[in-house]
Amino acid sequence: MKTIGLIGGMSFESTAVYYRMINEAVRERLGGLHSAEVLVHSVDFQSIVEFQKAGRWDAAGARLGAVAAGLEKAGADCVLICTNTMHLVADAVQAATKATLLNIIDETAGEILADGKRRPLLLATRYTMEHGFYAERMKAVGLDVMVPDEAGRILMHDVIFNELCQGKVLDTSRERVLALIDAARAEGADSVILGCTEICLLLDPDALALPGFDSTAIHARAAVDFALGKVATSKAA
Ligand code: GLU
Repeated sequence: MKTIGLIGGMSFESTAVYYRMINEAVRERLGGLHSAEVLVHSVDFQSIVEFQKAGRWDAAGARLGAVAAGLEKAGADCVLICTNTMHLVADAVQAATKATLLNIIDETAGEILADGKRRPLLLATRYTMEHGFYAERMKAVGLDVMVPDEAGRILMHDVIFNELCQGKVLDTSRERVLALIDAARAEGADSVILGCTEICLLLDPDALALPGFDSTAIHARAAVDFALGKVATSKAA
């Protein structure tokens, strides 16, 4: 089995989900008391949030690149940036390590395409919804990504940073996010991307008005496929 390296802590609420999903999948596939070979470097999220707020993406990329290099040195064969947002600096992270970077955007796009969907609504942080790196990478493989209007994008961003990343899961917020999905469906969306690794704490991807694609579960599955030998769909970032 290959060793999985997780760049985590962004936030630790979702890194814990990755850890559990990866280990459960390995146990399911190999049986008995099997579990994954995993290395986790969990960063202090506040330091990354400060880079985000200041638009210091180069500094954030250098920091996460150093973490990836450390994971490789410790034995990781692949690395996962356990946040959609920080894939904004995926190229810098991949440049810092020879380990394979499993890209959450590519993996998620691959599942959406395989399911025959073409017009997903992206629910994510404002960085992910507004900087374009996510939608453009999906467009390159044929997906027409929709995002909520500005009020909806602010709502998502606030729910992610002020609630989910702080361990708060509120019914009132769930209702408001479900209303965004209803509105997008009326405008032609055929699916929903849970494009922030904490959204699975709020929404069940299988109980939405549109087919849901949970980036956390998809990314974790890709890591297990890599570790156990099945070829993953990721290409280097
Ligand atoms: N975990 C979130 C994501 O998947 C947000 C935290 C961050 O800004 O990295 O985008």
